[in-house]
Amino acid sequence: MNKEFIYIELLNILDEESIKVDEPMKKHISFRVGGPADFLVKPRTEEELSNVIKFAKKENIPFMVIGNGSNLLVKDGGIRGIVIELSSNFNDCEIEGNIVKAQSGALLAIIGRNAMKNSLTGFEFAAGIPGTLGGALAMNAGAYGGEMKQVVKSVRLMDTDGNILELSNKEMKFEYRKSLLTTKDYVVLSAVLELQPGNIEEIKETMADYANRRSTKQPLNFPSAGSTFKRPEGHFAAKLIDDCGLRGLTLRGAQVSDKHCGFVVNTGEATAKDILDLMFVVKSTVNAKFGIMLEEEVKILGED
Ligand code: FAD
Repeated sequence: MNKEFIYIELLNILDEESIKVDEPMKKHISFRVGGPADFLVKPRTEEELSNVIKFAKKENIPFMVIGNGSNLLVKDGGIRGIVIELSSNFNDCEIEGNIVKAQSGALLAIIGRNAMKNSLTGFEFAAGIPGTLGGALAMNAGAYGGEMKQVVKSVRLMDTDGNILELSNKEMKFEYRKSLLTTKDYVVLSAVLELQPGNIEEIKETMADYANRRSTKQPLNFPSAGSTFKRPEGHFAAKLIDDCGLRGLTLRGAQVSDKHCGFVVNTGEATAKDILDLMFVVKSTVNAKFGIMLEEEVKILGED
C-alpha cells in the first residue's frame, strides 16, 4: 500500500487537520494500548464520509469506523488502512416531544442528560456507558436491565457504496451485545429513539443510583474496555473468573481487576499483548474448570 498516494487522495476529500498519519491508537481507545493506525480521519460531513468510504473501497484499502473507542483493543502492531472516527463531529442531539434524534458520534452521556432535562425516561440505563450512539447501536449496549433495542425506532446508515439506508428496530437485528452491524459493514449516521414522558426527579435519582453502582463496583480508575467477556448463557463471566481464583491475577501490565473480575484492566504500562495473554489465561482456566469457553465482548483489532 502506497501511503503517499493514499494521503494525497485523502487530501482531495478532507481538510489537512482531519487526517492523521501513523496515529497512535492508544490515544483513541479507553484501554490506552495499541500501535498506530496508518490513517485516522475525522470527516465533518456525510459527503466527506461517503467519499472516504468510496475511495477506500475502490482502492481496496481496509477501513473501519470507531466511536469513542470504549469497547476496543488494538494490537501493538496497529491498524493497516483507514480508521474513521465519528465522535469528534456527527454529535448533534435534538429532542422533539418524546422523540430523540441524535447523530452517531453523540455520547450516550450527553443524550442521557438531554433526555433527563426533557423529563424523558427510558434512557437512564445508557447514560453511564462511556460510548457513542453509533458504538452502542453496533453493540446493542446495555446495563441494569436496559438495552439499546428497547429505545430505537429507526437507524440511518451508509453502506460501502455511499448509499443511505433507513432501517427499523427489527431490521437492526439486535441481540445480546450484537446487531446487524456485527455482520454488515454499514456506518451508523444517526438514529431516532423513542422515550416516554417521566418525572425528572425520579429520572435523576435512577441515573445517580446507576452512576453510584458503577463507581462502587467497577475499576473506573484504570483504563479498560468495560466487561472483557460476554455473559455466557446461564452464568456471569465475573463469577466464573472469581471462582477460578483469578481475582487480581497480574500478567506484566495487565490485571484481572480485584474490584470486578469481569474487567481486565491496564495497570498503567500494559501492552495489548499483556492484555491478550492475560485474557488467554482467563479463558483457558475457566474452560478447564467449568467447560465454558468465554467469548470476548471487547472487539480486538489490528496486527501483532
Ligand atoms: P467503539 O468502541 O468505538 O466501537 C465498538 C464497535 O462499534 C466497533 O465494532 C465499531 O466499529 C462499531 N462502531 C462504532 N461507531 C460506529 C458507527 N457509527 N457505525 C457503525 N459501527 C460503529 N457496554 C455495555 O454494553 N454496557 C455497559 O454497562 C458498559 N460499561 C462500560 C464501562 C466502562 C468503564 C467501559 C470502558 C466500557 C463499558 N462498556 C459497556 C463498553 C462500551 O462502552 C460499549 O460497548 C459502547 O457502546 C461502545 O461505544 P463506542 O462509541 O466507544 O464504540
